[in-house]
Amino acid sequence: MTQPQQITVLGATGSVGLSTLDVIARHPSRYKVFALTGFTRLDELLALCVRHAPQFAVVPTTAGARQLQDDLHAAGLDTRVLVGEGGLCEVSAHPLVDTVLAAIVGAAGLRPTLAAVEAGKKVLLANKEALVMSGALFMQAVRRSGTVLLPLDSEHNAIFQCLPGNYADGLGAIGVRRILLTASGGPFRETPLPQLEHVSPEQACAHPNWSMGRKISVDSASMMNKGLELIEACWLFDTTPAHIEVVIHPQSVIHSMVDYLDGSVLAQLGNPDMRTPIAHALAWPERIESGVAPLDLFSIARLDFQAPDESRFPCLRLARQAAQAGGSAPAVLNAVNEIAVTAFLDRRIRFPEIAGMIDEVLNLEPVVAVSELEAVFEVDAKARALARQWLSRNAR
Ligand code: NDP
Ligand code: MG
Repeated sequence: MTQPQQITVLGATGSVGLSTLDVIARHPSRYKVFALTGFTRLDELLALCVRHAPQFAVVPTTAGARQLQDDLHAAGLDTRVLVGEGGLCEVSAHPLVDTVLAAIVGAAGLRPTLAAVEAGKKVLLANKEALVMSGALFMQAVRRSGTVLLPLDSEHNAIFQCLPGNYADGLGAIGVRRILLTASGGPFRETPLPQLEHVSPEQACAHPNWSMGRKISVDSASMMNKGLELIEACWLFDTTPAHIEVVIHPQSVIHSMVDYLDGSVLAQLGNPDMRTPIAHALAWPERIESGVAPLDLFSIARLDFQAPDESRFPCLRLARQAAQAGGSAPAVLNAVNEIAVTAFLDRRIRFPEIAGMIDEVLNLEPVVAVSELEAVFEVDAKARALARQWLSRNAR
């Protein structure tokens, strides 16, 4: 019998992390948890360690590590606790690891995800911000190490499933006309525009179809999530924004489509549950059970589509603009968005100011080429500083 694959789950305490552990627990003979990481929810991390008995856990501070290590000993576990970004990179690149699931939210996931890529691990990517920040360098690292990179983001996983195995030859060469990237439109798809000034973080996080972390929920409400996904798709499938059309599909049943030259459009459908793309990527090229209920088309009854309205969703236009500008622009977009979303969640700015702030900083910053990782982090730091200055002038 083959040995179970050893899996590191970066961001185990989050929404994608927990869905992944749910799938893994259904297949104990195929998968074994090697390492789990958390950031603020350390009680949950302890409970997950007790359940999955990993070899390593990673937390952000020495004090947190000491506490968790004591609690793990008391629970009779010999899990070793590591600290900080160094610890995250160690469990990503460890020689005993086969697969790394990258589900930390935001720029914090970039270095540990790249560490996994550089060590040649199979990488299942949820952390789209890492790719948005450093797409060219990230994909160069993927090619250099020959690692298998599989998209977990439901749209990109759907596109991957609708493409033939030789898609890396170029989408034009395999007869793809365009990618149709679907979006639910989020909770504010029909909210009267003047009311957007007054929407609360709770309303923004109440996604109609998906249950997700708070940052991506706000990104979905502003449609910056679709903007980030547009950039993510350009890198993953080596294409340009002009070949990607965003389609609002409120039911979130079709997770994306590929339109071919002969008029065929291939779609991947499923219930809106991340365990489907997670199970697909974990087992690829095989298929495993995920715990997701079969799709009931009769109860769904209809599938609707509409074009996105950019006056309602200016973040989508800004992301397209950053994608077209290339170089440092997507890293600036991502950094300012992270600061803006936090400020909105902290009730320091209003919802429409997320786009206002990004627009201003993006237009302030000249686009420069970024040919090494340190340059990406410099761009990220400078954009965050400008975003904070914007906040000190405009926030409550
Ligand atoms: P959550 O907020 O639920 O989880 C984020 C995870 O990252 C948690 O484990 C959190 O730890 C950890 N984390 C947060 N900040 C840091 C940091 N600075 N350093 C190390 N770890 C950190 O987010 P989601 O699971 O919803 O999303 C994770 C990623 O997956 C995002 O990039 C998102 O865009 C992407 N994604 C999510 C989807 C979803 O359905 N949720 C769908 C497609 C993509 P703790 O909780 O302990 O603080
Ligand atoms: Mg998505």
